[in-house]
Amino acid sequence: MKPVLAVLDTAYGDVDVERRVAVDRGVEVLDARDGAADAREADGVLVQFADIGAAEMDAHPRWRVIGRYGVGVDTIDIAAATSRGIRVVNVPDYCEEEVATHAAALALASVRRVPQADRLVRAGRWTHWRDLTPMPALSQATLGVIGLGRIGRETIRLLRPFFGDVVAYDPYVDTSDDVTLAPLETVLARADVLTLHLPLTSETRHVIDAAALRRMKPTAHVVNVSRGALIDTAALAAALEAGALAGAAVDVLETEPADPADPLLTAPGAIVTNHIAWYSEQSEPRLRALLSERCASLLVG
Ligand code: NAD
Repeated sequence: MKPVLAVLDTAYGDVDVERRVAVDRGVEVLDARDGAADAREADGVLVQFADIGAAEMDAHPRWRVIGRYGVGVDTIDIAAATSRGIRVVNVPDYCEEEVATHAAALALASVRRVPQADRLVRAGRWTHWRDLTPMPALSQATLGVIGLGRIGRETIRLLRPFFGDVVAYDPYVDTSDDVTLAPLETVLARADVLTLHLPLTSETRHVIDAAALRRMKPTAHVVNVSRGALIDTAALAAALEAGALAGAAVDVLETEPADPADPLLTAPGAIVTNHIAWYSEQSEPRLRALLSERCASLLVG
């Protein structure tokens, strides 16, 4: 019998890409979205949104592989999977360009107050540009980066031409030829734009909390395209409300989809996009094909 991969939940219209790639490797793909098929009959699952913990694994004893559509695996209980001999597969290498481009877009939109200026125009307030302060010249500004992995480095490459200086913190990187490394406190204090490019773990949850925000300049902006829980949302919204921070531009929230009561939706100087940093017409099929291929190969390997 052919091994079976079940697609549990995705926002894509069909499972055609997954099926085409897996079939070439002798693996069948079941569309198990909305309970359309029984994932208990599958040898592995592909999942985009759902949290997968020990209970789900125990309810599906055949699973040998859990494939997560994306880079982050913070929605999967890795320890529970490892202790049950289940391999967890992600796709770390499908959207560096897109995410870094989005981080750069958010950084520039936040500093240049693009959404706020758009609202002024629509409100008939053409000459009210002083409402948009502070708006510094970036050639005098410092870009601060936390996390010097694939996306952090690509973001630096894109944004460096705009900034006077770049300073970065990553406790797992000792030296870097082209970026000045500094302790976290220094990066927080020096950054005019601070951008986060690290995974969400128990160590990094709320790395930007009220104390970290107090170290930052009141004219600074925070950009987050990584994971919402890297930032204490309540503290960030409070800093924006108090004028202790100039702007925040985020693609990710602590609760997704956005809770209408999320204070960032009403905080001054906040820009929120809907977890789209990864997306382009090219990256979506790339993600689906790579995940399906890697999981299918593990099942037949
Ligand atoms: P990566 O593994 O290449 O790099 C992460 C870096 O973070 C590493 O260099 C690591 O040393 C560093 N790091 C780990 N702990 C740290 C800490 N405590 N302080 C500072 N740095 C620390 O990962 P990547 O591919 O660059 O992805 C970065 C983030 O982007 C992840 O959180 C991922 O989930 C997120 N992401 C978001 C989207 C989106 O659509 N919004 C898409 C892809 C990835």
